[in-house]
Amino acid sequence: MARAINFNAGPAALPLEALERAQRELLDFEGTGMSIMEHSHRGKAYEGVHNQAIALVRELLAVPDDYDVLLLQGGASAQFAMVPMNLLSPPASADYVLTGAWSKKAYKEALTIGAARVAGTTEQDGKFARVPSASELKLDPQAAYAHITTNNTIFGTQWHEFPDTGAVPLVADMSSDILWRSIDVSRFGLIYAGAQKNLGPSGVTLVIVRKALVAAGRKDIPTVFQYRTHAENDSLYNTPPTFGIYLLRNVLDVVKNGGGMAALEQRNRDKAALLYAAIDERADFYRCPVERGSRSVMNVVFTLPTAELEAKFLAEAQKRNMVGLKGHRSVGGIRASIYNAVPREWVEALVDFMRKFEA
Ligand SMILES: *Cc1c(COP(=O)(O)O)cnc(C)c1O
Repeated sequence: MARAINFNAGPAALPLEALERAQRELLDFEGTGMSIMEHSHRGKAYEGVHNQAIALVRELLAVPDDYDVLLLQGGASAQFAMVPMNLLSPPASADYVLTGAWSKKAYKEALTIGAARVAGTTEQDGKFARVPSASELKLDPQAAYAHITTNNTIFGTQWHEFPDTGAVPLVADMSSDILWRSIDVSRFGLIYAGAQKNLGPSGVTLVIVRKALVAAGRKDIPTVFQYRTHAENDSLYNTPPTFGIYLLRNVLDVVKNGGGMAALEQRNRDKAALLYAAIDERADFYRCPVERGSRSVMNVVFTLPTAELEAKFLAEAQKRNMVGLKGHRSVGGIRASIYNAVPREWVEALVDFMRKFEA
């Protein structure tokens, strides 16, 4: 089997070892005579996997003890609603920094729950070429929280330094760059991420939230949407997505055994540097629309001189077994998503192809 050279934006490539482990264990999980999918979520076998997944998140991201790690469902989009449902109540308002399509969606969703305002935007002619500088933000010191999207999957921009929001809890959608490197979790009140870019398959949503925020959360909303419900029940209030969490565990194990976060960050930086260099050295042919200081290490976007050349580029890439390079339908162009599970060799193959294609 030739494994596809997969640059999908999400769901995205998974580490081969994590998949092979699932393949080995699929029919007979640890000698139990059945797959992990067929186990009760209240049984010993699944409990071990569940607890290990949470422990690995805590270990790899050095999550402080005063934070809960929750494994939920509904994707990042459900968090667009759950965050304001739990944390926003009158008369307070929430701040949103708009840096792309996802942050706009998060903001719109908050407006269905309560008061929210735009604390900064870098939108120009419907596009976002950068994230804002600290001085551009107009933060409300009374806000219930301030929300950012740390990596803008569609526009290929990323926050490389996080804003200082003082006593206002910083809430971050990290769906497309969670776990690409170590972060200081204590800078955030709440972090959420759909798993399908850097963590595992779709269907699992990771939430890391300060316990004080969970405790202060609203109680006048349905039980299943309260963070406290999941925190009090170790994310076993109802049946969790057991197979997704099992795969998450496998992926996190691969990260740990592959040298941990420092090694992972280095690999990610190397891959991105290689690809951006290939774009910049043919700047009259390939063009990255993102300002240098905002370039994403995860989603590298670029254009070719014409739409015809882009179509040809994609078709030629496909012949070389490279998939997922078409830019998001809303912006066009080319996008190579080079998440944690994309090995350097795939980026080398792309760069080699880019040189040949340009020539
Ligand atoms: C993919 C993505 C989402 C949407 O995630 P779902 O799990 O499909 O709801 C939200 N935010 C960002 C930054 C994303 O990359």
